[in-house]
Amino acid sequence: MKVLIQNGTVVRSDGTEKADILADNGVIVRIAPKIACEADKTVDASGCYVFAGFIDTHTHLDLELTSTTTADDFETGTKAAVVGGTTTVLDFATQDRGMTMQDALDKWHRKADGKSSCNYGFHMAVSEWNEDRKAEVDSMIGQGVTSFKMYMVYPAMRVNDGQIYDAIRYAAERDCLVGVHCENFDLLNARIKELHAEGRFEPMAHADSRPDIVEAEGVARLMRIAELADAPAWVVHLSCEASLDEVEAARGRGVEVYAETCPQYLTLDKACYAQPDGEKFIMSPPLRLAHDRSAILNGMSDGMIDFIGTDHCSFTMAQKALGNGDFADVPNGGAGIQNRAELVYTYAVKAGYITLEQMAALLSENAAKLFGMYPKKGVLQEGSDADITVFDPDCPHTISWKTNLHNVDNSPYEDVPVLGGTKDVLVNGELVVENGKLIKPYCGRFVFRGPSTRTRK
Ligand SMILES: [Zn+2]
Repeated sequence: MKVLIQNGTVVRSDGTEKADILADNGVIVRIAPKIACEADKTVDASGCYVFAGFIDTHTHLDLELTSTTTADDFETGTKAAVVGGTTTVLDFATQDRGMTMQDALDKWHRKADGKSSCNYGFHMAVSEWNEDRKAEVDSMIGQGVTSFKMYMVYPAMRVNDGQIYDAIRYAAERDCLVGVHCENFDLLNARIKELHAEGRFEPMAHADSRPDIVEAEGVARLMRIAELADAPAWVVHLSCEASLDEVEAARGRGVEVYAETCPQYLTLDKACYAQPDGEKFIMSPPLRLAHDRSAILNGMSDGMIDFIGTDHCSFTMAQKALGNGDFADVPNGGAGIQNRAELVYTYAVKAGYITLEQMAALLSENAAKLFGMYPKKGVLQEGSDADITVFDPDCPHTISWKTNLHNVDNSPYEDVPVLGGTKDVLVNGELVVENGKLIKPYCGRFVFRGPSTRTRK
C-alpha cells in the first residue's frame, strides 16, 4: 500500500519544511519538495502540519482497581487516541501483588492484541520489588518492555524508598527508565484524616488533601534517591512549580532526571473542583493553581519538561459516584487520550509558550528516544515507520464527551475551545483516520522497544 501525503508542512524538532511524504509498505520511503507518483491513496495536507505520529507515554486502559475497572479498554481507548493523532500509546501493564511480571505482561497482551487501533507498548508497573521480580527484568527486556514504574502511594501498589533505590540502579545498568509516582503517602493520609474531621468530603477537599508540597516532597526524595544511586529517574505526571524547582535543583547537582507532565496541568486548575460535577476532576496529583500552570508551560518552553502523556484513566460519572460523596473514595483519573495534541497546540503553541518544533519533540520525538523507539518512531525521515499525523491548525471546535470517542459520559475538558485538530493519521503506513474520522480500526501493533537513548546522560 502506497500513501502519498502532499502539500503539507513537515514539522521536526529541528525545523519545518514544505514537503511531500511517500509511505510504502509501512515505511517512509521518500520525503521531497514534490513527489509525483501513483499512490493507492493521496492525502491533501495543504495548510496542515505533518508530524511524526504522536506518542502518549502514560495511559491506563482496562485497568482493574479495587472498586472498579477503567471505562476505556484497548478497543475504545485506542480508537479515541488515534483520532486525536496519537499513533502509539505506552500503557502500564500492572503487576499486582502475588503475580509475576510475566503474568502481567501476558494479561496485557490479551487485553490489547488484535483490539488496538493504534500501536501500543507496555511499561511494567510493579507492586513488589524483591529477588524474584528482579530476576524477571531481563526477560521483560527480551520481550520489548524496557521501562518500569513504581508508586510511592496507593496501598496496593506502593514500594519503599530502598526498593526504588535498588530498582533504578538495576534498571540503569540496562539503560531502562523507571518512572515514579511521587507523592508522600503518610502526609496525604494525615491530611485526609484532618479534612474528614473538619467535615470536608467534597471534591475540593481532594486538592486540599494533597497540595503541591505533598508531591514536591516525593519528587525531592526521588531526586536524592537517584543521586545516591547514580541512576536516572523519570518523574511521572509532574503537576506543580514546587516539583519543577526540585527537578531543577537536582539537575544542578548532576542528577539525570526526566520530567513528564500532562495536558490537564497546563490547561485546568483547582477551581474546577467547585463545579457541580467536580468528581470528574479527581485525579492524583490534583489540579493545581494558576502559578503552577504557568510554571508547567514555562517548563515546556525552556526545556525542563521532556514529554507529555495524558494519564488517561477514565471513569463514567456512575463510577465516580462509587465514592459516595467522599473525595477519598472516588476512583482517581480522567479522560484525555483523544485531546492531547489539540490542547497542547492551542494552549502551548498558539499561546506563545512553545514552537511547533517543540511540540514535535514533546509529543513524539523525546518519548521515542527515551523509550527505545527512535528513529523508527518519533521522527519523519526516510526509513522510519510511517506513523504520521496530519494536523489542521485551523479548525476551531469545542471539546465535549459527546463527540470524543472515549467510553465515558464526561470530560475534564468539557466546553474547552481548541483552535486546531487532527485531520488524517497513518498507522504502520495505513490511512486509518481520514478527515477526522476513523476509517480503518485495529491496525495497531505491539511495539517491541529497545534500550533508552538517555538524552540527559
Ligand atoms: Zn497514571
